[in-house]
Amino acid sequence: MKKLIYILCGVVFASTVNAQDIYIQSGKIVDTKNGKILTEKTIIVSGERIKSVEDGYIQPKNEGDSLIDLREMTVMPGLTDMHVHMEGESNPGAYLEPFTLNEADLAFNSVKFAKVTLMAGFTTVRDLGGSGVNIALRNAINKKKVVGPRIFTAGKSLATTGGHADPTNGFNRELMGDPGPKEGVVNGPEDAKKAVRQRYKNGADLIKITATGGVLSVAKSSSNPQFSIEEIKAITETAKDYGFHVAAHAHGDEGMQRAVKGGVKTIEHGTLMSEQTMDLMKEYDAYLVPTITAGKEVSEKAKIEGYYPEIIVPKALEIGPKIQNTFSKAYKRGVGIAFGTDAGVYPHGENGKEFGFMVEAGMPAMIAIQSATITPALILNMENESGQLAPGFYADIIAVKEDPTKNIKTLEDVQFVMKEGEVYKN
Ligand SMILES: [Zn+2]
Repeated sequence: MKKLIYILCGVVFASTVNAQDIYIQSGKIVDTKNGKILTEKTIIVSGERIKSVEDGYIQPKNEGDSLIDLREMTVMPGLTDMHVHMEGESNPGAYLEPFTLNEADLAFNSVKFAKVTLMAGFTTVRDLGGSGVNIALRNAINKKKVVGPRIFTAGKSLATTGGHADPTNGFNRELMGDPGPKEGVVNGPEDAKKAVRQRYKNGADLIKITATGGVLSVAKSSSNPQFSIEEIKAITETAKDYGFHVAAHAHGDEGMQRAVKGGVKTIEHGTLMSEQTMDLMKEYDAYLVPTITAGKEVSEKAKIEGYYPEIIVPKALEIGPKIQNTFSKAYKRGVGIAFGTDAGVYPHGENGKEFGFMVEAGMPAMIAIQSATITPALILNMENESGQLAPGFYADIIAVKEDPTKNIKTLEDVQFVMKEGEVYKN
């Protein structure tokens, strides 16, 4: 949205008199707040925000206003993926990358991944861990130097020594060293506090911890608890001082329970979650971020010989196929669900596949859509700015060919993308 700039006697005035609005005539729109599909509306966008949503098809009023015809489309708020890794993407050589790639390489790769993510209709993502390049990427996107979604990033995930996200797992002893809180490895509550403060200093938006073992780390257990409850509490309490929420990777039940009782906001994957833990999540107002797509991907790739290091294969085959079923049980038991896919574990840009898996597991399409719009907005403290097509909200708007409540797969083929009032795909 360009404002007319008048330069008078060296003074610059930005005129709003001739502000150019964009009129989006929409055949159907998804009302995420009320869970309804509405028909024949016009969304008026002014600058980076939505000005109003009008009944019927309205024509542009002022000179310079423009019209976008989406009368054949279903229009909806931009989607949010609460679990991505923008710095990397799974490939058979990925385990050598710590030795072969420099930060600049990660940065160039992340630029590509950010773009495909936005083009897939995801206007906001939460990056749950990388080297810290993800912080620079967020800044570059905010300054419009790079095309990509709005990013909330954890920077580097926090692990315990040898835990999932200890960056030196599987290295030879000389390269292993002894990473500490600065590098995101903590042992004890004091380390934990320091690691959170270091993330603040580095520019993170939230904290990610690895509450249990994981599938893709070069280590034996996929699911053992890896933090004490004292360490988790030290992290969540310190995080609060900086306005951070905490996300916890967790496959095993014991580590998950400690994380929920310790005050984390989201449980990632949740694979071996017991009914008792599901009830605890409801009690503590914690959300499950399922990542079904990643589960299916790792169990498929594990069947290809040599794709993953040997130690990972049995873990991938055990954990991967269970995620969808746990999601189904947790949803039916009333656990809050926030959409997340673990993009990077599978190719970026295919995030929309998760919707189909959620619906297949028994979640109504509209609830799945809400889990990727209004629910993330709530967790990210954006509930008055993101996740709805309503006045004052960011003009993050996408369009698909069909009504997604009738055919959820249409979300895998997003036709139109606007972010903060700028059209990136039409
Ligand atoms: Zn992840």
